Amino acid sequence: MIGAMRIDVVTIFPEYLDPLRHALLGRAIERGILEVGVHNLRDWAYDVHKAVDDTPFGGGPGMVMKPEVWGPALDDVAALTGPAAADTLLDSASPHVRSGLRAGKDAAQETTQDAAGEPQDDDRPVLIVPTPAGRPFTQELAQQWASAERLVFACGRYEGIDQRVFTDAEQRYRVEEVSLGDYVLIGGEVAVLVIAEAVVRLIPGVLGNRASHEEDSFQDGLLEGPSYTKPRVWRALEVPEVLTSGNHAKVDRWRRDQSLHRTLSVRPELVEAQEAAGQLDKKDRATLRDLDKAVTWTDPAQKR
Ligand code: SAM
Repeated sequence: MIGAMRIDVVTIFPEYLDPLRHALLGRAIERGILEVGVHNLRDWAYDVHKAVDDTPFGGGPGMVMKPEVWGPALDDVAALTGPAAADTLLDSASPHVRSGLRAGKDAAQETTQDAAGEPQDDDRPVLIVPTPAGRPFTQELAQQWASAERLVFACGRYEGIDQRVFTDAEQRYRVEEVSLGDYVLIGGEVAVLVIAEAVVRLIPGVLGNRASHEEDSFQDGLLEGPSYTKPRVWRALEVPEVLTSGNHAKVDRWRRDQSLHRTLSVRPELVEAQEAAGQLDKKDRATLRDLDKAVTWTDPAQKR
């Protein structure tokens, strides 16, 4: 493998994955940090109609994706054999000037070293199955998967994929069924774009400034507060004064307070989890008290 991470996506709509070639992901491809293979599930369909679905056992509406098509497809993608070996990798959509970048192998080596800090005792690729019936996809999972060598995505359509496919796939993959949220999409492709973007930006070397993801929402368990740029006054609205004070300690405290404030207003359970994990200090509690909110809740009714 040339790149530090290889992503493979199996779908009946390969063109849906084209956005993976753009912007930061395209740049990661160009630098050799990332390889992306997109595979058309119909290449494994065996009948004259290239069918990939059939009616559900037990009756009911809709169609279910067939195990006899998904099984061989995932076997080949795991081993990079059959049609999976022939499929070309995505090219970056907008190649940059190579002379300005380090060679892909250098970047890949740096990544491998960083990733080596996390001991991997299971070298099966991760098979990520987007489904509303999965556990929630979180930043924590994105971080775990950012150090994997191979991620394979299975895009469901219709009523989803025959469950036996994933039971069987456990022999070759670490299978992870994940949901983007409590709503139902038409297919898994959009979920793959979301998950791939969240994971790839955490691979060392992908973002120019590493600190930019270290300060993101969820990295410290809270939501990030508001951001501002120039001009200082826009449509009579002024940037908060502290941000132009040049006092870094004050700026840091203000940002932390804003983060606590926003999290408490829209996701109070995240503040509660931080408190339970012992991650709030005296100053945080003082801020929360100022916001007239209790921090140590004994009665759920007192939370807000
Ligand atoms: N019958 C399924 C159910 O109720 O759980 C819904 C199938 S949905 C119409 C078709 C495909 O869209 C799923 O197989 C999955 O790949 C994708 N999908 C839909 N909602 C999703 C969500 N919230 N998170 C992740 N993937 C989703």
